Amino acid sequence: MNDRQLFQKHLAPTSLEPMALPISKAKGSSLFDDEGNEYIDLIGGISVCNVGHCHPKVVAAIKEQAEKYLHVMVYGEVIQSPQVQYAALLTRHLPETLNSVYFTNSGAEAVEGAMKLAKRVTGRTEILACHNSYHGSTQGALSIIGDEYWRNAYRPLLPDIRHVWHNDFESLRYITTKTACIILEPVQAEGGVLVPDTAWMKALRERCDETGTLLILDEIQVGFGRTGSLWGFTQFDIIPDVLLLGKALGGGLPLGAFIASQEKMVSLADKPVLGHITTFGGHPLSCVAGKAAMEALLEEKMPDEVFKKEQLFLSLLKHPAIKAVRSKGLMMAIELADFEVVKNVITNCLKGYELENGMSRVFTDWFLFAPNCIRLVPPLNITEAEIRKACAVLISAIEKTSDIHQ
Ligand code: PLP
Repeated sequence: MNDRQLFQKHLAPTSLEPMALPISKAKGSSLFDDEGNEYIDLIGGISVCNVGHCHPKVVAAIKEQAEKYLHVMVYGEVIQSPQVQYAALLTRHLPETLNSVYFTNSGAEAVEGAMKLAKRVTGRTEILACHNSYHGSTQGALSIIGDEYWRNAYRPLLPDIRHVWHNDFESLRYITTKTACIILEPVQAEGGVLVPDTAWMKALRERCDETGTLLILDEIQVGFGRTGSLWGFTQFDIIPDVLLLGKALGGGLPLGAFIASQEKMVSLADKPVLGHITTFGGHPLSCVAGKAAMEALLEEKMPDEVFKKEQLFLSLLKHPAIKAVRSKGLMMAIELADFEVVKNVITNCLKGYELENGMSRVFTDWFLFAPNCIRLVPPLNITEAEIRKACAVLISAIEKTSDIHQ
């Protein structure tokens, strides 16, 4: 059996119509299939490959660490240089109150850990989250995501959860002295790139201070330069009590983290001891890869280029069938008529178009809660030439698809 047959036979599906593109190689902003066809990657592993696929510094760091040690002991018991060095680098680039890093395996686990932390620190159980938000697929994270269609199939979920809308000042009254925390994304990704107003974010911060509620910001998709600054929260001029990181955190290897003050974090280590534990969280390979990726991001000043590249995308993504393009840095949503059109555009981009320099193909995707939008989250070091080529393919696919649908 070939890989395609084995994929269908033995890999548990997550959808009934997977893209099923056979990947043989990935480099920079390109993916290659098993026939050697190249695709410009506008998804970057869904906001993971901010420094591109297989950045040489990341690959070198993984190789070096693989020669020293892999897994040695569960998280937190022995001193592993990759973990402590990465935690030191992260906290050097964060406010003083975010000085303690708990490394997990994934974003959802960081969300779970942060919710437990908020319960311990405040002694409260109520949790607020936002409509349209996505925080992961485990049962706790699923309980707080902001879309009933996705939650409902798995009820009963966590009790004591309430959802509020972005920018609704009225709803801030739901944050009370009974609320352990509110969790939100500074830019809602799966909602189709929805950005709250700074005034509301500041009012939210104030209300949390008044009530002793922890403000938890999920920067799992937003972090690491995606919006043009290293972290998204700095653009709102607020500091969260807990910051959640994942995706680009591991430079292409699995890694998540929740970050808070040492004072708060200690509550997970006592009464009971081992209040939050993980075997593989902060795996040494993931930590060296993540640290090398963050160093490359900073050394090559990738966040500084984000605004210019965003503007280039916006200037090229023009067509009557495009209803809107929403963006925050290199996180973009192209709004089209409906999900059918979106799916056809994605398929046509994969098939490709004959441009001046030959056949060009583009890899793109859709969003969970914005089915009429195409998702663009390319590596931050995508070149201007790649952006131009990718947009030409996108526009050709939109042209072809909208012709059919007229
Ligand atoms: N939070 C946000 C904003 C996400 O986008 C995701 C994943 O897409 C998660 C949390 C969950 O991360 P993971 O898939 O690593 O569990």
